[in-house]
Amino acid sequence: MNTAYVVGGGLAGLAAAVALAEKGRKVVLIEGAPQAGGRCRSYFDATLGQVIDNGNHFVLSGNYAVMSYLTAIGSRGGLIGPEKSRTSFVDLATGRRWTIAPDEGPIPFWLFDAARRVPDTGPLDYLPLFKLLFARADETIGDVLPASGALWEGLLHPFFIGALNTEPKTASAALAGALVRETFAKGGHAYRIRVAHPTLAAVFVDPALDFLRARGVDIRIGQRARALRFDGDRLAALATPDGEIALAGGDLAILAVPPWVATELLPGVVAPTEFRSIVNAHFKAAPPPGLPPMLGVIGGLVQWIFPFADRISITVSGADAIVDDDREALAKRFWADVAKVLRLSCDMPPWQVVKERRATFAATPEQARLRSRPQTRWSNLLLAGDWTDTGLPSTIEGAVRSGQKAAALALPKLSV
Ligand SMILES: Cc1cc2nc3c(=O)[nH]c(=O)nc-3n(C[C@H](O)[C@H](O)[C@H](O)COP(=O)(O)OP(=O)(O)OC[C@H]3O[C@@H](n4cnc5c(N)ncnc54)[C@H](O)[C@@H]3O)c2cc1C
Repeated sequence: MNTAYVVGGGLAGLAAAVALAEKGRKVVLIEGAPQAGGRCRSYFDATLGQVIDNGNHFVLSGNYAVMSYLTAIGSRGGLIGPEKSRTSFVDLATGRRWTIAPDEGPIPFWLFDAARRVPDTGPLDYLPLFKLLFARADETIGDVLPASGALWEGLLHPFFIGALNTEPKTASAALAGALVRETFAKGGHAYRIRVAHPTLAAVFVDPALDFLRARGVDIRIGQRARALRFDGDRLAALATPDGEIALAGGDLAILAVPPWVATELLPGVVAPTEFRSIVNAHFKAAPPPGLPPMLGVIGGLVQWIFPFADRISITVSGADAIVDDDREALAKRFWADVAKVLRLSCDMPPWQVVKERRATFAATPEQARLRSRPQTRWSNLLLAGDWTDTGLPSTIEGAVRSGQKAAALALPKLSV
């Protein structure tokens, strides 16, 4: 039997490995870090004495690749969220609270009900959103939509900064259009918020590793691929700390590493070069009951609050302006927002701040042009990763789709 070497155990690599192992192919998974999961991971934090995520992640009910991946590994039940699409916000400046409540189907009757849409907006304000569906690759959201006003502040800015991790005015209108196509245009059933509980690893990573082990996949954690050796149009070998792995005749590899590693390992590969940070904080405190899985905050430093049974976590996306700030000073500013929104004591509980400097590639039109197709000029080497040409921004759904696509391309080349 020939072998598929999957290099990189983030969600793209895990999704590729799961798709291949599910079809009975022989797979070796090579992950460079001490644990799998990549940018979507959990770990025991000694300061808090509990397992936390590197960063809060949300997915949407319409993320069909994520759902099929979780179904395959048996952990779809670990995603929690409302039965109908409901997204709640609090405006820190005015104290105003609202919940957008779309219809489940594609006809947006909800826009004609002031109680279900963003305050101070009218139904016609939402029409320009559809312009994003036809945006050119060189246009920014600011070129296509009015980037101010109640709809912008109360929904579009928070949604797009959360999903694109790039200041929305400067972000690619085509990538925003891809999101609108998969959410608003389909109806509320496609954009019910889903969050992994109790942790990312428990839902996205550990069940995948169990699934792979149960199918005999050789999982090599802490084995960084240091170099690739080519022979004509073929990848001939992978250099790892344990020595060189030579690829036999029918073997192939899927390189599912972040873009900055792909460009190091592969001569001439085109990949994004600019990244945006995300800052998360975790507070060891029980959240008040009845909160949604993700609460939007307007007019503060905190953008989203995620309540978990044993912690309250917050996210700031597009966080380059604060990523170098002192961690304790940040924690205090974050907690001030959280305490105000959730009406909790101002005394800050034990905290942890996690800074991810290269959380995603910058979703600008210029960077979106630097994405590679999964096929390479080497006949037995494929690419996967959220940065490859998925048509989506850097997201879990994009990562999983890229892994599944690479696996689909690999399958016919691999014997059973
Ligand atoms: C804080 C934060 C919050 C986010 N929030 C969201 C969100 O709410 N929703 C959402 O959809 N997305 C979110 N994202 C983005 C999402 O996490 C990523 O798009 C996704 O995890 C990328 O997966 P990947 O497999 O493409 O890449 P990675 O996760 O980067 O995986 C690549 C893997 O390759 C390994 N590797 C690197 N070099 C080598 C080597 N030489 N040899 C072997 N292995 C190697 C790495 O260790 C890593 O495990 C967020 C990201 C961050 C950081």
